[in-house]
Amino acid sequence: MAENVVLALGSNLGDSAETLAGAVRDIADHPGITLSRISPVAQTKPVGGPEQPDYLNMVIEVVTELSPLEVLDLCQDVEHRHHRVREERWGARTLDVDVIVYGNLRHDDDRLTLPHPRAAERAFVLEPWLWMDPDAHLLGQSVAELAAQASDRDGVRRYEPSASGDTAEA
Ligand code: AMP
Repeated sequence: MAENVVLALGSNLGDSAETLAGAVRDIADHPGITLSRISPVAQTKPVGGPEQPDYLNMVIEVVTELSPLEVLDLCQDVEHRHHRVREERWGARTLDVDVIVYGNLRHDDDRLTLPHPRAAERAFVLEPWLWMDPDAHLLGQSVAELAAQASDRDGVRRYEPSASGDTAEA
């Protein structure tokens, strides 16, 4: 059965805007994936971790009959294709792709937790999700309400390429 799946993408090393666009193309090119919605890109302050450049973040919605683990495999494959560099937890990375929700599925094993365990408190996921889908819900809670409560909300704004400030170097 086809499911609606929300994926979150983030990058803060290299040409992040180009990396995100390329990653969306790679995901959409998979024969088992139909891309249904794309959020605007957000420029966001890093949450925790060492000092590092701002991130660019976005979410997409896809429709797929791939299993949850096949979706995770695809996300990790796309990360590797973009030469993800990840030297420290929470540190800078060329590309991070997370599975946020897979329909209404709850799942927890060594490789995959669904919904993503930190999505409900991360404005850098919730805000772009809301821009894409103002009626979005996460486990029965409105994403709009969750976003309003997220502690990192002030660090999230629309990315404007001409005024990108101190984001990852272009
Ligand atoms: P990170 O790249 O820091 O987001 O963490 C990646 C690790 O989290 C991988 O080992 C995944 O197997 C695991 N993981 C667990 N749940 C998820 C999820 N919903 N989306 C992406 N990675 C997940």
